[in-house]
Amino acid sequence: MDKVRCLIIGSGPAGYTAAIYAARANLSPVLYEGSMPGGQLTTTTEIENFPGYPDGISGAQMMEDLRKQAIRFGADIRVGIATKAVLQPNEKIITIDGEKEIQASTVIISTGASAKYLGLPDERKYAGMGVSACATCDGFFYRNKTVIVVGGGDTACEDAMYLSGLCKKVYLAVRKNSLRASKVMQERVLRNEKIEILFKHEVIGLFGEDGVEGAILMKNRGEKEQEEYSIAVDGLFIAIGHHPNSTLFEQYLELDKLGYIKTFHGTQETNVPGVFAAGDVADPRYRQAITAAASGCKAAIDCERYLVENGL
Ligand code: NDP
Repeated sequence: MDKVRCLIIGSGPAGYTAAIYAARANLSPVLYEGSMPGGQLTTTTEIENFPGYPDGISGAQMMEDLRKQAIRFGADIRVGIATKAVLQPNEKIITIDGEKEIQASTVIISTGASAKYLGLPDERKYAGMGVSACATCDGFFYRNKTVIVVGGGDTACEDAMYLSGLCKKVYLAVRKNSLRASKVMQERVLRNEKIEILFKHEVIGLFGEDGVEGAILMKNRGEKEQEEYSIAVDGLFIAIGHHPNSTLFEQYLELDKLGYIKTFHGTQETNVPGVFAAGDVADPRYRQAITAAASGCKAAIDCERYLVENGL
């Protein structure tokens, strides 16, 4: 069995930043990139709010730069997915791809979060045939077509803006009568002539022969004026938030009621000594690239102190 001093699981801004700090502290970190190297930011367009990039930077480029920076200081970045975890104070064993076991003195969990779906049977029926949770991955297939985006946060607005550059028309279905997105995003969407916002609308079904040809909408749910109707669309993009990727660790780690890993004492420590959590998997509140990176830094520093204090 491989033995490592510092094992990092996940490769978004939290994981890579933890790797940079841990490598510079001579912890010889090993990082497994998981199923989506670079994490969620590789699916965003432009990052405009990370300090230090006055002209913005693409998510994919930023992740590539962070990865290179970690490698430069000696981090061992590997392809592989953690499939099993034993996380006890005196025994931390992570299984990679169902076969390779790694014994770690410390573990930093930075597995991020994944897109939520609406839970409609039609989402499964039309998976890969007109339903997507990633506008930048799949938008290309909808050039000059009509799509509907669901959600009212920054992700939904950003997706609607991105898709408006490709599509003939973009509907944005928002379940409340207001957007939750930041003011700057709201203004962009409201000014965009290709985007039509459908407030107090939910998508409740889809129809089509060999792919999505339309969506069934419900307007004013639960009110006297509640109404159902259909519109013609070629694609549905879901942008209603994310859930933390913590299931693998739930047997050992304390999670909050939404499944985020709990950290304690203003540090990145979890309830298991030597196990730290960073980034979106432990952050129900901020969920920004900059806060994820900062928590990755904190986790690596916490890790180093733990190793020193325990003579490991
Ligand atoms: P949010 O949680 O902010 O927003 C989710 C949206 O989806 C809300 O409008 C919510 O509606 C709606 N929603 C949730 N469930 C359903 C459902 N079942 N049916 C219909 N609508 C639903 O998630 P985001 O992914 O947009 O953003 C997450 C974080 O990332 C935020 O902090 C955001 O600021 C940040 N972010 C920043 C970006 C940037 O700065 N460039 C880009 C993208 C994200 P309701 O309001 O009714 O609850």
